[in-house]
Amino acid sequence: MSARTASTQRIADPLEILRKNWGYDSFRPMQREIIDSVLGGNDTLGLLPTGGGKSITFQVPALAFEGLTVVVTPLISLMKDQVDNLLQRGVQAVCLHSGLTRAEHKYGIDRCMLGRAKLLYVSPERLQSKQFIDQLSLMKVSLLVVDEAHCISQWGYDFRPSYLNIVRLREIFPSVPVLALTASATPEVRTDIMSRLAFRGENVFALSFARPNISYAVRYVDHKDTMLLRALRATSGTAIVYVRSRRRTYELAQMLQREGISALHYHAGLSPDDKSDRQERWKRGEVRVIVATNAFGMGIDKPDVRLVVHYDLPPSLEEYYQEAGRAGRDGRESYALVIASKPDKGLLTRRVGEAFPPRDYIRKVYELACVFCGIAVGEGFEVVREFDLATFCNRFHLQPAPARSALMLLTRAGWLEYVEDAATRSRIMLTAGKTELYDLRLDGVTDSVLQLVLRTYTGLFADYVNISESLIARRLNLTEEQVYQSLLALCRAHVASYVPHSENPYIYFTTAREETRHVLIPRDIYEVQRERMAVRVRAIQDFVFGASSCRVARMLRYFGETQVDMCGKCDVCREQNMHRPTKKETIRFEENVIRLAAQPGGRTIGYIAEQLSAKPERVIEVVRELMDDGTVVMTGDKIQTVQCE
Ligand code: ADP
Repeated sequence: MSARTASTQRIADPLEILRKNWGYDSFRPMQREIIDSVLGGNDTLGLLPTGGGKSITFQVPALAFEGLTVVVTPLISLMKDQVDNLLQRGVQAVCLHSGLTRAEHKYGIDRCMLGRAKLLYVSPERLQSKQFIDQLSLMKVSLLVVDEAHCISQWGYDFRPSYLNIVRLREIFPSVPVLALTASATPEVRTDIMSRLAFRGENVFALSFARPNISYAVRYVDHKDTMLLRALRATSGTAIVYVRSRRRTYELAQMLQREGISALHYHAGLSPDDKSDRQERWKRGEVRVIVATNAFGMGIDKPDVRLVVHYDLPPSLEEYYQEAGRAGRDGRESYALVIASKPDKGLLTRRVGEAFPPRDYIRKVYELACVFCGIAVGEGFEVVREFDLATFCNRFHLQPAPARSALMLLTRAGWLEYVEDAATRSRIMLTAGKTELYDLRLDGVTDSVLQLVLRTYTGLFADYVNISESLIARRLNLTEEQVYQSLLALCRAHVASYVPHSENPYIYFTTAREETRHVLIPRDIYEVQRERMAVRVRAIQDFVFGASSCRVARMLRYFGETQVDMCGKCDVCREQNMHRPTKKETIRFEENVIRLAAQPGGRTIGYIAEQLSAKPERVIEVVRELMDDGTVVMTGDKIQTVQCE
């Protein structure tokens, strides 16, 4: 069969695949519908809330179809987690991203070509490489999956220009169905996703985004620390506290520890070992609270988070929903709390300005980034360079926030691709055969490192395996530097291929360096996007600072749901319920109003309200009803009972 014609032949029942490979008894809501639609060969857009189980919706079809499922996903860390997870379940999967060596890349491609992999995860920027596309077109692809599909829409909060290349795959594999998945998409983003992915017909499967086991609340305070402590003390179980600065993650975690609450901080700048160590300790429940930037959470699957606190406000309702949604994945009662202060509202508005520095400044940042990466005009096409923002800003005396915004805008405009989520773990593959290892002459330290690697990790001869230099160092009582040098020595001896971890984000130059004056930032990237950001900011401002109606209902309407009930448990609903009197209370209240109005000459509304410790509006409401049924009348400003003759 040609590579261009997909096989839609089913080889097994989806439920059987689920049971056999994942050990789950049944599908979660909407999973089956999405899977059936995909297996029927239909282009499908699946909208499931965070934790809804999106991965299963393509992993099960991947196993049901013959051939390969290609998954485009933007987050390298997520991609690696999923591949590791699948490999543990015995499902052959490969990931390709710009953090790999040439050898790793080739090895991955070969496995797909030979039909040894069922799933291939790729980062969107891979699709810019002609060589990769050529290789892909020789593979037998049965399904194309676009994860985090909102990234394809310029209307979305997380637009990534390289996502626009995905549609090229559709031209290569015209009969292969596409499955687009996202956890949040407003109605216009949904339509946009389907049109940009050239859907053959509109086909959306959406689960309500309501999360009935989460109680949302906002508290307005002057002292956020006090409120945070109160919330953590009033609840039990694991918690996440989101802040917007790396420094604050550290400061707050320290503060919580001083107050006797076990806490760790987390942000993208920590080393990969440190990050995974912190994640694991929190996941195992050794530490109760993780104080993190938004770098934390994607792909982290801890079902029993009881409380998610936003100490700082996120810039959109979409992000808020995703982060808050990490609470209560197990379906048990959980809380999402926003701690807001008066200045927060203005802060959000100001962020819109910061995200769009002047165009001259953006051009300057482009030029300096090229200089920093050693790229001359006319050169640099498809070059990848590590890019440390702090060093860059120090060297050229730039403020990090606007410089970062400029890089993001250059990314959106397609001049380069600045990728922050680039942390890759150290990995090693043994290239010498098992027998050759016996004949090696290595120095004592290197030999002990090799022996420990062989004892600790499996699968070393077949593929790259993640390793931790610090763990090896601890076990052998060596320094990390000694371990690093030994691993390099193994490479020099042609025993192993070793890729040390990289912590730095990188820039991928999508075009050759242009003359600075030609670096244009189009209106639809600048003015139009600025307005869209302003709209998103207004939505989160309304969610946090508007207190007139159910918060959940407002959020769901923003996500395009029309059948929306009051949640009954957010702070606004609770407040309203608290003041809604029971029938018995209403009757008693009416009787009291009549008693006071029956006094000679009647009484004023103000007097009655004061006597009954009630709001005047409530008295007016009752008096109106009593007037309607003829029990009382109003004479001047006095309420009097009607005397029966
Ligand atoms: P999402 O990507 O939608 O946030 P995931 O795909 O990471 O969610 O799934 C969340 C969790 O739910 C994972 O632990 C996954 O294994 C689990 N899960 C998914 N489908 C099922 C199912 N049918 N039965 C039980 N658990 C499931």
